[in-house]
Amino acid sequence: MKTWLLLPTALTTFALTQTHALANEPTTFAPTLQTNDSWFKEGQSVLSAAMQTAPINTPARNIILFVGDGMSVGTMTAARIYAGQQAGDSGEEFRLEMEALPHVAMSKTYNTDMQTPDSAGTATAMVTGVKTKAGTLGVNDNVQRGFCSTIKGNEAKTIFQIAAEKGKALGVVSTARLTHATPAATYAYSADRNWENNTTLTNISVEQGCRDIAQQFVDYDYGFGGFQVALGGGLREFTLVSDGGKRTDHDLTTLWQQRYPDGAFVSDHAALMDIDVSETERLFGLFGLSHMDYELDRDDSQPSLAQMTETAISMLAKNDDGYMLMIESGRIDHAHHAGNAKRALEDTLAFDAAIAKALAMTDPNETLIIVTADHAHTLVMNGYAPRGNDILGLAMNADGPVKADDGKAYTTLTYGNGPGAISGERAEPTAEAVVGDDYLQQALIPLSSETHSQEDVAILATGPKAWLFQGVVEQNYIFHVMNEAFK
Ligand SMILES: [Zn+2]
Repeated sequence: MKTWLLLPTALTTFALTQTHALANEPTTFAPTLQTNDSWFKEGQSVLSAAMQTAPINTPARNIILFVGDGMSVGTMTAARIYAGQQAGDSGEEFRLEMEALPHVAMSKTYNTDMQTPDSAGTATAMVTGVKTKAGTLGVNDNVQRGFCSTIKGNEAKTIFQIAAEKGKALGVVSTARLTHATPAATYAYSADRNWENNTTLTNISVEQGCRDIAQQFVDYDYGFGGFQVALGGGLREFTLVSDGGKRTDHDLTTLWQQRYPDGAFVSDHAALMDIDVSETERLFGLFGLSHMDYELDRDDSQPSLAQMTETAISMLAKNDDGYMLMIESGRIDHAHHAGNAKRALEDTLAFDAAIAKALAMTDPNETLIIVTADHAHTLVMNGYAPRGNDILGLAMNADGPVKADDGKAYTTLTYGNGPGAISGERAEPTAEAVVGDDYLQQALIPLSSETHSQEDVAILATGPKAWLFQGVVEQNYIFHVMNEAFK
């Protein structure tokens, strides 16, 4: 590997020398296979497992779509190293739970009108099978953002409606507001993702018959009944201003309870833990006025994503005909927007723990589990730190911090843009500061909120029809595999 660092002239000389030596001694080069090398042995054992992985081609009883909002491939790599280092290892060799899923493809995430996508358009692509514009939910590309009148006739049927028609139970779980773009795509049609409560709708939109997203959640029926389980943040979008919420029309938690007298509404961790799943017909939980807390900041008043996942699967598994469930880790994205890699990595590990819980609770012969991201972020990994270097730390070498051409140290993780950018001369990051909870990684372009990236994201899958994830695919293809799996 050292030859990569040689200057071109030295590299040429080296290559010529090698050629010359080989030409004079043609018969002495006879290596034996390195079967005792631990890397070789590990490769062989992975190969054996892969050769025994037969495609499962029977229909799926259940589908769980895991969405790590903003979980770029670089986020996965950094989270893997972070987790390995927390376990006391060098980190690079660690494997996240999601990385054990056998079938993998890459997803092209652009929206019909944007090279760099937003979460409403990407979630819509995944659940409806068609790409659409940024900022719109549950509708095709004919809809103009913000224009209620353009929705009629352009609604797109979702995998959730298809599942409900087959008698399957429905579930949605998110650490973001339940009315936020990704979870909202499971139940709402909206010309604008920001129409989360009644005060956000324009008068003309109300006159044209548009309802806000929270209202659409409570109204969601289509003749099959609504969601059997919905857990997330965003209480304020469902409650009145007089109760600390945002609404001026009516309290939607009360309306939901009236519509589902057998259902249970909960708003804290203890109440969720008290739920007797076998006795509960439906479950609606809203933990926190807005988004739920980052995993790094979460106290016991809120459940973890893994705990919500466990409850959701327990509820849905009671249905004889199976279920369709989306689970979103909504705040990886928010931590990246804030330019704060540590919280993004912590939330990625909480997401991975939820995936582990789902894998443990389901049978791969009957449940299709898909793990993907809706879009990437501009998180960058800079070389050349040695093996085992703290993933949040300064890039080091044997003499101490590696110095950039400005004579200053730098971190392995930086962002392409965001609040960590500095106008003028770059500050010298210190070893203590860069591992702090609130440290903002340095960035090139100053922006108050770091942006999404249009880089492809991963799709990892196991279970029935998971083998259909192959190659580099358009994001809306995810729907088509789910739809095929439910046939
Ligand atoms: Zn975002």
